[in-house]
Parts: sequence; structure tokens; C-alpha cells
Amino acid sequence: MPTFKALLATQDSGKFHASIQQLDRESLPPGEVTIRVKYSTLNYKDGLAVTGKPGVIRKFPMVPGVDLAGVVEESSSPEWKPGDAVVVTGFGLSETQWGGYAELARLDARLLVPLPKGLTLKQAMAIGTAGFTAMQCVIALEHHALKPSTGDVLVTGAAGGVGSVAVAILAKLGYHVVASTGRAQLGSYLRSLGAAEIVDRATLTTPSQRPMESERWAGAVDSVGGDTLAAIIRALRARGSVASCGLAGGAALNTTVLPFILRGVNLLGINSVYVSREERLDIWERLARDLPLTLLDQMTEEAPLESIFELGEQILAGKIRGRTVIRI
Ligand code: NDP
Repeated sequence: MPTFKALLATQDSGKFHASIQQLDRESLPPGEVTIRVKYSTLNYKDGLAVTGKPGVIRKFPMVPGVDLAGVVEESSSPEWKPGDAVVVTGFGLSETQWGGYAELARLDARLLVPLPKGLTLKQAMAIGTAGFTAMQCVIALEHHALKPSTGDVLVTGAAGGVGSVAVAILAKLGYHVVASTGRAQLGSYLRSLGAAEIVDRATLTTPSQRPMESERWAGAVDSVGGDTLAAIIRALRARGSVASCGLAGGAALNTTVLPFILRGVNLLGINSVYVSREERLDIWERLARDLPLTLLDQMTEEAPLESIFELGEQILAGKIRGRTVIRI
């Protein structure tokens, strides 16, 4: 393959441009392992990157795509050999390192994990950063003593990528999952993933002057942020925790310290990008064990790389349901 297909983002005099083109193999950045990419995925951050919004790409030219799954073609590292099936999520892909929206990727060996047993390359990308983050959230809540017997667990942005995977995992683990969504028409989809109750997301953002509300949530996975996260904190049960991983509804957080000092609640920050290899392997092992593959397949659509610009706009508008795998 002397040339390869790639989505290349450039910036010229401050003007963003992105298009799918044929690049010379020599244009690949230096790295120990060359991977033939089979699938990537669509995350919220990918939507920001391909539509030229600030905050993701930190150097140009850039191949976006936060995640990739493929097969090793060449390797100068003893850890990997041609034919190995590998997965990369996060680690600065699409920020400072070329990512998954290309037929070839070249990366350092330490960024790669083996394709988890029991998953196909496509399923690994159906999980992708969104699913990886959902699992991180659940593990963080478990580390703060959440158990199915503790009480109801809220998932916000439930019909989105992180939300759908979180609902499926928590339900499989035996939790009573309350799914918050702005799309009432997706109620039966959320129930099919295991949600026991559906709430309209507008009910979570009703303005309140009170520093605390009645105790409601034993735990929460929040990919929305803003007023939603503030409302969750006000309604956490004593010693309850919310895993905060996203800002689909806003980055500002308007709260008081009262729930923290009077109820001992916990606000757990989740970052999926820079995670040690050991922790990554544990998270993938938990995903392979606790995320039912039938539900993963049910929440996943597949689309070609060529549709990424349209999909990018849709995910930013909150119109994507579940997960979308990008076929390279
Ligand atoms: P999705 O677009 O798939 O899901 C986001 C969901 O949030 C939407 O489906 C919608 O759910 C809800 N939503 C969208 N807009 C609003 C709004 N204005 N107010 C309230 N709810 C809204 O994105 P992802 O699941 O990929 O990512 C979700 C968030 O998590 C993003 O902010 C992303 O950047 C962040 N993230 C962070 C990571 C980390 O490492 N911390 C890793 C991965 C993602 P519904 O229609 O059901 O209401």
C-alpha cells in the first residue's frame, strides 16, 4: 500500500479544513508499530474535531479519530508482531497523535492493547472511548462502595454513547437503573438495554434555590454536566457518588459545598485519555465480562468513513443513538 486513505485536518491562516485524501505512506509519523486500521468510532470529541470546533486537535496537520482497532502490519517492538489484533483508545489520538480515521496508523507500542478475548475488532470499536469511559465510571462508583443493594443509580445522557453502555453494564450487574433522556421516543430502546425507569432530562434541570433536595440517588453516571450535574449533587443520598465524565449539557458547575459536608457525597472525576496500561487492561477485562454483547450489538450502527462529517454534526446536536462504528 504505497498510499493510504485518510481524513486529514489542516489549518491555514486560522481556517480549518478537513477532507478525505490519499496520503503517501512516508507521511505517517514516526512510531514503532504500523497498524492497518479496520474500524474506528464516533465519540462526542470526534464530532468536535471533524467539524473544526476548538478543544480537541492541538496540532496540524492531524488525522482525527480518537479510537482505532486493526491488525499490526509492521513492528520494531518485540511486544507486537504482524498479524496481532490491537486496539487503541484515547492517549492523545486526534489531539497530538494521528488517530483512527485512516487506513494506516503508526504509533508507539505502549499505546496498544491486545484485542480483548471474546470481542471482534468491530465490537471493540462499538465500545470505543465512550464505552471504556462508561466502564471507568462504574468502577469508580464501585470503589466508593456502590452496590446494587445501595439504591437507585441514575444515568444521564442515557441514549448517547457513554449513557447507553453505562445503562447496559449497570443493569447486567443488577442495579436499578434510572435513565435520564431528552428523547422520550427512545424509552423502549433504553428499557431494552436494562433501564428500569425513564425520566425526562428536563426534570433534572428545574432551577432550585435549595442547596439540597430529598435524597434520591445512591450513585450516578453523568455525561451531561452543567445544571444536570448540579441537580444530581443536590439529590445524592448520604455517602452517594456521581461519576462526572462529560459536558454535553455544559461545562459550568453551580453548586454549594453543603451536600459534600453534610451528606458526605462524592464527586468522582473521570478521564479516559491518559490511563495506565495496567488499568486499561483491567477496564477492558471488565468490559468483556460485564457488557452483554447482544446489547452492545443492539445499540451499535455501522457507517463508512465518508459519512463522518454528517455524523459529527449529528453527535454534537445530541441526535446519535447509542454507538456508531466507523468502517475504514
Ligand atoms: P453522545 O452525544 O453520544 O451522548 C451525549 C448525550 O447527552 C446525548 O445523546 C443526549 O442524551 C445528552 N445531551 C446532549 N445534549 C444535551 C444537552 N444540551 N442537555 C442535556 N443533555 C444533553 O456523546 P458521548 O456519549 O460520546 O459523550 C458524552 C459526553 O461525555 C461528552 O461531553 C464527551 O465529551 C464526554 N466524554 C468524556 C470522556 C472522558 O474521558 N471524560 C470520554 C468520553 C466522552 P439524551 O438524548 O438521552 O438526553
